[in-house]
Amino acid sequence: MNDYIIKCENLGFTYSENIEGETSAAEEIPALKNITLGIKRGEYLAVLGHNGSGKSTLAKLLNMILTPTVGKIYIDGVDITAEDFTEDDVFAIRRKIGMVFQNPDNQLVATVVEEDVAFGPENLGLPREEIRRRVNSSLALVGMQNYMRHAPHKLSGGQKQRVAIAGIIAMKPEVIIFDESTAMLDPLGRREVIEIMERLNREEGITVINITHYMEEAARADRVVVINDGELALDGTPKKVFSKVARLHSMGLEAPQGNELVLLLRDAGCRIDGDSLTEEECVETLYNFISKEKTI
Ligand code: ADP
Ligand code: MG
Repeated sequence: MNDYIIKCENLGFTYSENIEGETSAAEEIPALKNITLGIKRGEYLAVLGHNGSGKSTLAKLLNMILTPTVGKIYIDGVDITAEDFTEDDVFAIRRKIGMVFQNPDNQLVATVVEEDVAFGPENLGLPREEIRRRVNSSLALVGMQNYMRHAPHKLSGGQKQRVAIAGIIAMKPEVIIFDESTAMLDPLGRREVIEIMERLNREEGITVINITHYMEEAARADRVVVINDGELALDGTPKKVFSKVARLHSMGLEAPQGNELVLLLRDAGCRIDGDSLTEEECVETLYNFISKEKTI
C-alpha cells in the first residue's frame, strides 16, 4: 500500500482566462507555483493562506476539476496527470477524493434530506439495500438521522453542511477536502462541522484536508501547510508553524489569538511557559503563569 494518498511534484497552475472570461496572454494568472507536497493516508491537514493565495486551485487540481499546467499529481500512487487518463479514471478519483465547499446551498440537490444523501450512491449504480445502508450510516455519522425526511432548505446552515458531508461520506471517499466549509456558518455550526471532520479522521480513518482561514481551526490539525501567493511557504506541526509569528504576519495571516497573546506577554517580559494554540491551552498557560506569580 502506498504511504502517500496524495503526492504533488513541482505542481503549477496558471489560469489563462481572467475571471470575466476574457482571454489575453497578458492576463495569465499563475495561481500555483512549484508545489511539492506529500499527504499521508490518515493525515489531518490544514491549509492556510490569505485570499487568492491558491488554496481552492490546489483543491480543484486534486479533485481533477482542473488539470495542472505543469508538474505531477499522484493519487494513491497513480499518476492522474498521465496522458492516457480516461473519463472512468477521473470518476474513480472523484469518488476517492470528496469535496465539501463553502456554501451548503450549492451542494444540496434534492428536496428531501435522505434523497440528497442517496444521490451519489445512486449514481454509482449500487443496489437499493446498499444505498439505504449508506444513507442511514452517513446521516448517523453526522448526527442528522432524525432529519431524514426533512426539507434541506429548512435546515440551519450547519445542518445543511452536515447533510452535504453525509452525501460525500455515502460515496466512501478516502480523502475529504473541506474548502472553507465553515466560513458561512455561525459558531455552533462551525463547531459541529469541525467535530465531524475530526471524527471522520480519527474514527473512520479518512484523510482530512481542511482549507480554512480560521487559525483556531488550523491549530487543531496534525499538520499545517501555508500557501502564499501560489507557493508553499510553511509546512509543519501547528506548534512549529504558529511559532513563526512575524513570518505569518508578513503573509497577511495571524497566529491563533491565544498564541499571539502569550507571545506579546513574553515580549513584554513575562516569564510565561507552555503552549497556547487552542483556547484550552491558552487558559491553562495563563492560569499556571498567574498561579506562579502569586506564590512568588
Ligand atoms: P484562494 O482559494 O486561496 O482564495 P484561489 O485558488 O481561488 O485562491 O485563487 C488563486 C488565484 O487565482 C487568485 O489570484 C485568483 O484571482 C485566481 N483565480 C481563481 N479562479 C480563477 C478563474 N476562474 N479565472 C482566473 N483566475 C482565477
Ligand atoms: Mg478559496
